[in-house]
Amino acid sequence: MPELPEVQTIASDLDDVVGGKTIAAVAVSFDKIVASDLNRFHKLLTGATIDSVTRLGKWVCFSLSGTEGPVTMLAHLKMTGQFHLGAWPEGESDWPPHTRAAFRLKGLPAENDTLFYKDIRKFGRLRAFDLMELEEFLEHLGLGPDPFDMEPDDFYKRLTSKKGRLKSVLLNQQVVAGLGNIYVDECLFASGLLPTTSACKLSRPDTDRILTEARRILAASIKARGSTTSNYEGLKGGGSFQKSHNVYGRAGEPCPVCGSPIEKSVVGGRGTHHCPHCQRGRLKSGE
Ligand SMILES: [Zn+2]
Repeated sequence: MPELPEVQTIASDLDDVVGGKTIAAVAVSFDKIVASDLNRFHKLLTGATIDSVTRLGKWVCFSLSGTEGPVTMLAHLKMTGQFHLGAWPEGESDWPPHTRAAFRLKGLPAENDTLFYKDIRKFGRLRAFDLMELEEFLEHLGLGPDPFDMEPDDFYKRLTSKKGRLKSVLLNQQVVAGLGNIYVDECLFASGLLPTTSACKLSRPDTDRILTEARRILAASIKARGSTTSNYEGLKGGGSFQKSHNVYGRAGEPCPVCGSPIEKSVVGGRGTHHCPHCQRGRLKSGE
């Protein structure tokens, strides 16, 4: 599933290519992909101009000027969602494989005038809202701040007020937005902390270290256009940060710091990678 750096890359690519374009027509070939009201989805987006495409946690956020005011389309790509460009499908047989929704844009060459949402496993969701509906949805979502926007004090409070294990708490989007399986494993390795540590027992130096490492690793990954580990792809291609992973996807390989084999376990139902030698329950004071 794309995490913060991958969604950031996808959003930046989209902003470059479709920013400023007006949606002439909307078509949906798999209704369930639209999680807000389907008729309203068509009504809000048809004729709207895409002002910008940004990232909100792990959501791609299209900000549009609609015919009756500001409109937002949120896309959560889940396992296999992708955006790509192609020609507007004239009939059902013209739809590219696994595409679930199509947005025809004005001002692009005919062979590439349509933004397709493709999703092999169909777990992704698109939603369109006016301002008031967006506010309600975001309130319901309760998304925590980005690691880049988080104050160290707030991060410490958010982590230590939770009872779960550190890995699970960092994956909780209401605690901190944008982190997923890859970057939590990498961040905990870089911080020297075990994923199974109780979040409520962390010290202030522990949480400061996690936040510093999270920002450093996420920034480096954004620079490398994210990690291509499965289906992730931006309009301008994938990323290369997977080459810089120290533990994720490296079970049995030697730890780059101490040489011990990287272990894979399951924490909170998620495959988890760590070095049994370099990672501990808590940092010693002064580290
Ligand atoms: Zn090690």
